[in-house]
Amino acid sequence: MRIFDPHIHMTSRTTDDYERMAAAGVRAVVEPAFWLGQPRTSAASFTDYFDSLIGWEPFRAGQFGVRHFATIALNPKEANDPRCRPVLDLLPRYLDKDAVVAVGEIGYDSMTPEEDEAFAAQLALAVAYDLPALVHTPHRDKARGCERTLAVVAESGIDAGRVVVDHLNEVTVKLVRDSGCWLGFSIYPDTKMTPQRMVELLREYGTERMLVNSAADWGRSDPLLTRATGEAMLAAGFSDDDVDKVLWRNPVEFYGQSGRLDLSDLDTAAAVDPQTGNSILRGGS
Ligand SMILES: [Zn+2]
Repeated sequence: MRIFDPHIHMTSRTTDDYERMAAAGVRAVVEPAFWLGQPRTSAASFTDYFDSLIGWEPFRAGQFGVRHFATIALNPKEANDPRCRPVLDLLPRYLDKDAVVAVGEIGYDSMTPEEDEAFAAQLALAVAYDLPALVHTPHRDKARGCERTLAVVAESGIDAGRVVVDHLNEVTVKLVRDSGCWLGFSIYPDTKMTPQRMVELLREYGTERMLVNSAADWGRSDPLLTRATGEAMLAAGFSDDDVDKVLWRNPVEFYGQSGRLDLSDLDTAAAVDPQTGNSILRGGS
């Protein structure tokens, strides 16, 4: 089983996770820029974080044979903090980088006017830089949040086929499907979507435009739930080809729209120092 996790926050995970993911078949990941839990106090703090997402983290992933890409944005929650707003001016510098395959995660947390503004501005950046967009939907008041999200996406003029609306469930799946956007599902250990519920949704709605991710981060989460979903699909009678479509070909097609998804030589990926470009072994502790 080859797996592409289209939404996972590896910065918050350990090398044990990389090891287990690689053993389970995870060969590529997309890491969206997000809220780190501790509020940031200045835009400079984002610069170091974004640099790490396109430098250090791909290097770390490469040591386990996992290809790592990033999406860059001001996240919905911190869009409300005036100390973080200047990040919007930093984004163009990053959206030009080869390791960046989309603008994200953007969207709503509490649906404030500040979030409205940051969301629209970043969709405009996605259009300007010809990149797909990864859109987070709020965990509270999901149906209303999703409706409003789709309205803003439509208003922005971005092609719906270049947008994934993420963290969907049984309540929001149909809305997004009818919009023409891609559908993202985050599988969690004991809340929200489970592998079994995901299988039911795939039965009902098919495998087109469906993306399954672990959204693993610093909270209770599990980077192997993509694999568990593949196993649950097989147990439910889906074919190997169906599993490959959902867990590999769909994310490749979606992020491939960036024109930057280089998956060549994947099995032989060497550990390369992001600074020097030299192959190196892990040094220090
Ligand atoms: Zn996330």
